[in-house]
Amino acid sequence: MAKPIGAVCNIDCNYCYYLSKQDLLEYKKGCSPEMDEVMLEQYIKNYMEGQNTPEIIFSWQGGEPTMLGLDYFKKIVELQTKYQPSGVKISNDLQTNGTLLDEKWSAFLAEHNFLVGLSIDGPQMLHDAYRTNRAGRGTHKQVMKAVELLHKHNVSFATLTCVNNLTSKNPLEVYRFLRDEVRSPQMQFIPIVEQKTFRTDAPQTGSSSQQLRQGDKRLIPGNSNSIMEPWCVSDEAWGNFLIAIFDEWVQKDIGKVFVQYFEASVETWMGRKNPLCTLGSLCGKGLAMEPNGDVFSCDHYVYPEYKIGNIDTDSLEEMAYSKRQQEFGFAKSRTLTSQCQQCDYQFACYGECPKNRFIKTRSGEPGLNYLCAGWKKFFSHADRALAYILRATGNPVAHGKYSDQMIRTANSAQGAGFNPKF
Ligand code: SF4
Ligand code: SF4
Repeated sequence: MAKPIGAVCNIDCNYCYYLSKQDLLEYKKGCSPEMDEVMLEQYIKNYMEGQNTPEIIFSWQGGEPTMLGLDYFKKIVELQTKYQPSGVKISNDLQTNGTLLDEKWSAFLAEHNFLVGLSIDGPQMLHDAYRTNRAGRGTHKQVMKAVELLHKHNVSFATLTCVNNLTSKNPLEVYRFLRDEVRSPQMQFIPIVEQKTFRTDAPQTGSSSQQLRQGDKRLIPGNSNSIMEPWCVSDEAWGNFLIAIFDEWVQKDIGKVFVQYFEASVETWMGRKNPLCTLGSLCGKGLAMEPNGDVFSCDHYVYPEYKIGNIDTDSLEEMAYSKRQQEFGFAKSRTLTSQCQQCDYQFACYGECPKNRFIKTRSGEPGLNYLCAGWKKFFSHADRALAYILRATGNPVAHGKYSDQMIRTANSAQGAGFNPKF
């Protein structure tokens, strides 16, 4: 994941986890916030040389990468063509807040088959609560203009919606707006989880003995002595948000509306690997690179402690396969709490993203995920419906309380005919 403009952004969302990186990273001290052309070319060449796959996918993020201007992205495509190995397809993803997209941008994105990730938090009132420009005004109107342009030019896009203290309490308003007004081809939801110390402290560097236990009131955002930023989603609200949308999706929209978490759940229940890093067994496949060439273990670990090299001096391939990066990747499964190891839904969750593992289990073991209670509530709610969907479509049910194996065991114990209905 390349960040050619680092954390620089034209808007100022209250809950952004990245804006504070401008103060944390070395490029503030006299370096340009933009990746210069020499570095850009070096990156594109280095990135292509490190891969032997039939498709090479570039991901461009920020900050707000469209602030670099259209000519910068034309240069990117030109350099990609220059170094493109024969027979290899090049693809690009671009994450944007949409406010700078116009006809020319949209035509360019369509022509070069960019997949656009568009940040939008739902209807105007919910979106504008946090997604404001520097004058404090909401950006919803501009983003909806971008939605129309993306549809008009047939640009492939997905919506990225932050689930915070407000959106989490209005799940159906958010979902129906994305479905009916935005006509989102793919919905992605991101839980907003930040401790008050997130601007300076890297995840998992605090003392584990200081962690609060699951259920402690100080973990609830908005409580007077909470350790969480007030805009965060609570564990409970996260579970309720997913459940409300899942129920509507199952009843009305299955097969028509793509909700990334639900599609991933269907795959996981079927016995396939989870396509999402946050719910899979491994970390470390998405390195993040800043404009000065510094490379970090993950976009959520852009802190000095997690810098693994610089493309000026190290090859991306070596960094990606370095011992340090492998340890980072395998730690996701190796450091699961015993609560996770015994959990009925470990196969679907794997303790979720390690950046959110900063609480203790009720029995006092550190390293549990802050969202655990919400995830468990959602998985146990969705379990039966997911099994039903798979069985009804002739697929195996590899996991969960209604798996093929569980049904066989129940049948042999209770006599044939046990068949849980949805
Ligand atoms: S730290 Fe989180 S976001 Fe990064 S690779 Fe691991 S699960 Fe994914
Ligand atoms: S639901 Fe909770 S206990 Fe289960 S794997 Fe996820 S974080 Fe661990």
